[in-house]
Amino acid sequence: MKKVWFVGAGPGDPELLTLKGQRLIKEADAILFAGSLVSASAMMWAKKTCVIQDSKGMTLDEITNWLIKYAVEGASVMRLQTGDPSLYGALIEMVQPLDKAGIEIEVIPGVTSAMASAAAAIETLTLPEITQTVIFSRVEGRTPMPKGESLQELASHHCTLCLYLSITLLKKIKEELLAANWSEDSIIVVVYKASWENEQQILRGTLATIKEQCKAAKINSQAMIIASPTLGARHWGTLKKSKLYDATFTHRFRKATQNTKG
Ligand code: SAH
Repeated sequence: MKKVWFVGAGPGDPELLTLKGQRLIKEADAILFAGSLVSASAMMWAKKTCVIQDSKGMTLDEITNWLIKYAVEGASVMRLQTGDPSLYGALIEMVQPLDKAGIEIEVIPGVTSAMASAAAAIETLTLPEITQTVIFSRVEGRTPMPKGESLQELASHHCTLCLYLSITLLKKIKEELLAANWSEDSIIVVVYKASWENEQQILRGTLATIKEQCKAAKINSQAMIIASPTLGARHWGTLKKSKLYDATFTHRFRKATQNTKG
């Protein structure tokens, strides 16, 4: 069977790989990994005979030719991607040439870095009556943003924003959030290398301070920026509780045990 598996490696900690991803690594004959972000320790389960190659210095053509070559030989071939393959992973650019070459594709999802960052910081991205929406985005740098997706426009919803690939653009983030009526005191959390043992750093600041904090900590890559009205909720005195666990609320799996006045 000529097939290539695109596997989400998760944010860095190999234990955050899915069981399916781990099994496929064990079975793989050839693994091409995205070297700058995928932790090499994810490959510890690979067979001794498995060909393991870092794609860091490769062009798109070189990457797809490598995958096609091994797939045509009948090997079990994997493209190991950071986080989840569907987010900022050039997935379709790689899939199209494989489709043309008649190679079957399967994608295994992974824990994306936004989720790993929220977990590391013990933050929730949604809270009842605060925000029920999360936007995954990035700020315009060399990659232009499509119409309607400027950070100012997205931030005007005052929901949770998880910004990938934007840690060098904190000045712009501040300007656009201020333009969307966020205050200088809005809490911002930056997580560098979420889930990487001994390397993870969590910075908490505000729109006014976070750029300087990142500079002082020398964080200029591999970082997630979270802006949200939910941040810091762990320390709030009053919370609107979720209806799911509310004793007065009946749902499909549980009957209310108190009346609404109780
Ligand atoms: N597909 C990946 C994203 C690739 S784009 C995913 O789902 O996570 C690369 C960007 O992801 C980085 O610039 C950074 O913003 C973020 N990122 C990747 N790994 C990270 C980690 N361990 N901690 C924090 N941010 C990370």
